Amino acid sequence: MPIKVLPAEVAAKIAAGEVVGRPASVVKELVENAIDAGATEIKIEMRQGGIRLMRVMDNGCGIPSDEVGLAFARHSTSKLESASDLARVSTLGFRGEALASIAAVAQVTLVSRTAQESLGTQVKVENGAIVGREGKGCPQGTVVTVENLFYNIPARLKFLRREATEAGHISQLVSRYALAYPELRFSLLTNGRLAFQSTGSGKLYDVLVKVYGLEAAQQMLLVEGGSGEPRAEGGKTAIRVHGYVSSPSLHRSNRQYLTFFVNRRWVQDRSLSYAASEAYHTLLPTGRYPIVVLNVDLDPAEVDVNVHPTKREVRFRRGNEVFAAVQKAVRRILAESSPLPTVASRLQTAGSPSAAPSVWGQPRRLTGVGGERRPVGQLAMEVQRTAEDALATTVTPQLRPKLPMLRVLGQLGQTYIIAEGPGGMYLIDQHTAHERVLYERFTAERARKAVASQQLLTPLTLELTPRQQAAMAEHLEALTELGFEIEPFGGETYLLRAVPAALERGDIGQAVAEILDELAEEDSGEAREEKALISVVCHSAVRAGQTLSMEEMRDLVRQLEETSLPHTCPHGRPTMIHLSAEQLAREFGRR
Ligand code: ADP
Ligand code: MG
Repeated sequence: MPIKVLPAEVAAKIAAGEVVGRPASVVKELVENAIDAGATEIKIEMRQGGIRLMRVMDNGCGIPSDEVGLAFARHSTSKLESASDLARVSTLGFRGEALASIAAVAQVTLVSRTAQESLGTQVKVENGAIVGREGKGCPQGTVVTVENLFYNIPARLKFLRREATEAGHISQLVSRYALAYPELRFSLLTNGRLAFQSTGSGKLYDVLVKVYGLEAAQQMLLVEGGSGEPRAEGGKTAIRVHGYVSSPSLHRSNRQYLTFFVNRRWVQDRSLSYAASEAYHTLLPTGRYPIVVLNVDLDPAEVDVNVHPTKREVRFRRGNEVFAAVQKAVRRILAESSPLPTVASRLQTAGSPSAAPSVWGQPRRLTGVGGERRPVGQLAMEVQRTAEDALATTVTPQLRPKLPMLRVLGQLGQTYIIAEGPGGMYLIDQHTAHERVLYERFTAERARKAVASQQLLTPLTLELTPRQQAAMAEHLEALTELGFEIEPFGGETYLLRAVPAALERGDIGQAVAEILDELAEEDSGEAREEKALISVVCHSAVRAGQTLSMEEMRDLVRQLEETSLPHTCPHGRPTMIHLSAEQLAREFGRR
């Protein structure tokens, strides 16, 4: 076939495919237009998962009658003037192709009126061409109705999922925008029924309650952090991180609940997701993810939003710093508020509605990193930090969530330490508590390359299975860093010459075999070093069923107080539960 230029209509459909992948992408573009138009009230309607009909109504500025037709022309926009504006986009739209794209693949009706006009204008567009136009009385603002999506592209229509799935995408999208713009009132009507409504109160917390429910919202922690000065002269401008993250007691089985906005634009960004979930490292059980709603605010010149037609991806000029700011802000709030499970909270989850509110009954309001001013030198040092540094950063000492001074009373079932503190009774799991202590000790020693290692008086010979040998080969470096000295001795035999000092008790051969078995297991997604560390810690810690002397228990509790995250073990299980004095009084009918 000879080369020829495609007819405009075909080209338009191809281009539209990039912007409009499914009904939710139409709603996204229309909602963004409404926000850009300064609306305070945005009503979204969908029928049959949006495939039959989507409508977005706003009370924004409206489109002047003589520009209504132009709005549907490709690359027509009121938001950019020159290419240089692209370098600092402050509106959600800027490509001028959404309305044109939508009109190429659906039947569109737009009604709009500005404040200056007494009569509104209605246009109907089909296959990208205006097929009807008339004056129409209407309130100020814009209503765009999109019907029969992909009616003229059967190939696309076939790829749509079930109505319920498409409806799910739309409602998720509306919740996201509601979270990004708490000051706007969003309503979503599904097949004529009100499915979601935000208050428009301007409080993010109110939207959280609407989107995730009161119980979840109450377990969310306020994050306010970032770095840099708002108006840096000649230097770096600020990166602000604001939003809510779930306390470690609340988690979900997938990453869907990680929501990020950059200058209030919803984005999908792996590095932000990673930064936030990494902050929960050792606080959540493996395979579980936090709920995160965070907005990263920075100078628009610092971020390129023109990466993809859907505007869902962004590029940061200082990616590492953005990463570090998010990670630190989240880490900080978690360390500051790392909550203590209470007996009351357990009863509550066990279905006792009358139980007292738990310690995390109220969202915590603590200021995160950067809420305060700091000396210039310190700032400069921080700016140089790489993402890796940020990962390695532990909580600074003055921020430690101090455990109250605890007085050890005794041991229960050779498993739990009973202790008394100012707030009532504490039950401490001796194994998980010791795991936390050892985990932080190993991490610190390893960073200093000074893990306490103990030479065995006589080397121990180990007979390893092929699986254990493979695990050994893969993790040898990590194990050496942790204080092991192991060398091959021919065939399946290995010589163990030294072990981490902490491991030096009980049956060492058996412990090493178990550690290797664990390391041989399916990848849990952790870094190799981390996996080895957690496994060694677990096998070095005192077991349940071990009798401890008062002295040993006091020691353990003191050491636990020194850790930066005393309330969970490295696997994310609690180290202690708390029975408050009030709770005791209530249980005994003293109140
Ligand atoms: P973009 O948003 O990238 O500018 P669109 O194709 O989405 O491109 O919209 C084209 C133009 O139509 C916008 O620049 C804006 O001027 C106008 N417009 C679209 N929707 C609305 C709305 N809801 N209210 C006011 N103006 C609108
Ligand atoms: Mg737009």
